[in-house]
Amino acid sequence: MTLSKRLYPPAVIGIIGGGQLGKMLAQSAQRMGYKVAVLDPSEDAPARSVCHTFIHADFSDEDALIRLSDMSDVVTYEFENIDAHILRNLVSDYYVPQGAETVLTLQNRTAEKNAVKASGARVVPFENISSTDDIKAFADKHSYPLIVKTTTGGYDGKGQYYLETAEDLADENIPFSDTEFIVEKYIGLDREVSLTAARSAGGEIVYFPLQENLHRDQVLYRTIAPARVDYFEEAKAEAEKIMNAMLFVGVFTIEFFIDKNGELYVNEIAPRPHNSAHYTIEACNISQFDAHILSVTNQPLPEVYQHKDAIMMNLLGEDLDRLDLELFDYSEWNVHLYGKSDRKPARKMGHVTILTDDIDAEIVKLKKNFEKET
Ligand code: ADP
Ligand code: MG
Repeated sequence: MTLSKRLYPPAVIGIIGGGQLGKMLAQSAQRMGYKVAVLDPSEDAPARSVCHTFIHADFSDEDALIRLSDMSDVVTYEFENIDAHILRNLVSDYYVPQGAETVLTLQNRTAEKNAVKASGARVVPFENISSTDDIKAFADKHSYPLIVKTTTGGYDGKGQYYLETAEDLADENIPFSDTEFIVEKYIGLDREVSLTAARSAGGEIVYFPLQENLHRDQVLYRTIAPARVDYFEEAKAEAEKIMNAMLFVGVFTIEFFIDKNGELYVNEIAPRPHNSAHYTIEACNISQFDAHILSVTNQPLPEVYQHKDAIMMNLLGEDLDRLDLELFDYSEWNVHLYGKSDRKPARKMGHVTILTDDIDAEIVKLKKNFEKET
């Protein structure tokens, strides 16, 4: 279903997924006066505490998704892995401006990389594989190191196998019979950057500043914005190629690699709010969550600007263990805790954003706080 009119509060925004992204979307929507309904399989989903209606159901429960859609004027999702059949049905019967086809392509790393490559944007060499022989053949062409990833369901480095040498391949037991895999050339990174953009239902596009991301153990550790390298225009040009090939409505983020020769490659795309743009809540005139809500309700988007340089640090389970009682000692920290009851290592429990005139000095201070011995 399409919609040409603008949706005004108190219209109801239905959000599929009530994790931290759903929570921050709901908070933004509520500030503007919209009502929010959320569906999530977890009883203590972070968004539950900030929505008008909560539906406790699985993402595969079509009846529950229909209930959510029936009570909503617009349906959006923060969760990417919705079943194709169900999502296509929802899109045909309700107003789901993000649509089905883009997210279904992006659910599968091989389909995603093929689509990005076909758009003319640059990706690292990759191939769909189903055996160790396939990996050996790929290694003959592209040489080690390589990285093997599940084509579906992976996030925060889950389902990934790093192969430095042929011996690693011999040692690793990749479960080919369980699922599908893709192999990529593992490139030496100078750094990683990401570009967050929003496209409204009316076709207006705005870009947030380029973000510089540091990962640890494949999980985002820190974002600096704006990035300290000058790739904004190049990244935007890649984004435009991708937008010509795929329809986006709402906020989306393109993750990029920059290799040691300074070449920019598209890594992956998230058709929803992204961890690397959380800093926009404090640092920009509108946050990525505001941009998403404005986009899906068909409201005009303002030009985006950033007030001040920003650093965002993720608070994983182990970081909270160290910082728990000190979190509010540093008055310059904007603390966000998502309200997850189960604290686990490597689980994203919250984040901290700091606005500063001196990124380098702030990094030194943060290192002391985040890496101190306990
Ligand atoms: P996820 O879906 O888990 O975020 P990514 O493909 O983004 O998976 O991989 C997570 C991180 O692993 C990347 O941000 C990057 O730091 C590293 N990585 C992944 N693939 C490559 C590669 N081909 N070359 C170099 N580093 C990589
Ligand atoms: Mg990633």
